[in-house]
Amino acid sequence: MSIEIDHINKHFGNFVAVDNVSLNFRDGELTALLGPSGSGKTTLLRIIAGLEQPDTGRILFHGEDTTDKHVSERGVGFVFQHYALFKHMTVFQNVAYGLTVRPRSTRPNKAEIKEKVMRLLELVQLDWTAHRYPSQLSGGQRQRIALARALAVEPKVLLLDEPFGALDAKVRAELRRWLRRLHDEIHVTSVFVTHDQEEALEVSDRVVVMNKGHVEQDGSPEEVYDHPANPFVYEFLGNVN
Ligand code: ADP
Repeated sequence: MSIEIDHINKHFGNFVAVDNVSLNFRDGELTALLGPSGSGKTTLLRIIAGLEQPDTGRILFHGEDTTDKHVSERGVGFVFQHYALFKHMTVFQNVAYGLTVRPRSTRPNKAEIKEKVMRLLELVQLDWTAHRYPSQLSGGQRQRIALARALAVEPKVLLLDEPFGALDAKVRAELRRWLRRLHDEIHVTSVFVTHDQEEALEVSDRVVVMNKGHVEQDGSPEEVYDHPANPFVYEFLGNVN
């Protein structure tokens, strides 16, 4: 599913959070929205999701204008920084959740749900946790379950907001490699927000660098790293190295 962002603007009071942003996300690509805190990344992600309405501009999914479509009609899966798994449900129930709340006409039967959930748990290599509760898992494991849950509804688009933000460096590094592998297997168009330069450069097919609500540079990790478009990008990437 390709996504076209066409001249999007969003302000909160007098503050311009997203400033005339136009971007194309190609089908099956994993894109990082990279930038410092407050640069408008999350707001843009929420607009793509349909959780927030832009003031002006359009969002097209596969060429179709979805700007006015409700979040539930867009076919997006989410993973947020804080795992937000249901604590009182088992891992199995968490992953199955999106399927069980479907309208009766499109809801898979029990055996189908079981098969699908177990397949997803195998994909994230956590099938042995099916009957555990989230509190019995590590932070990294919980985040992999959150990914399995997002994938259960077969989203056309996967949106990840600082998916590994709350975890320590070692687990983050492991999950980065793991997200890359998973993406190579499922090829769902994915956009993830991060303020971590290394994470963006290592994981994604493409990096969009944002600052103060606008796009500073948009290119492959190599292009952005080797040929920063301007002093901001140069300094922002240079700060960690
Ligand atoms: P980032 O994800 O890059 O850190 P955000 O998109 O979260 O940036 O925020 C961009 C700016 O918009 C921030 O300064 C934030 O305070 C402001 N902002 C975001 N959401 C709201 C809101 N609902 N109301 C008021 N200001 C907001």
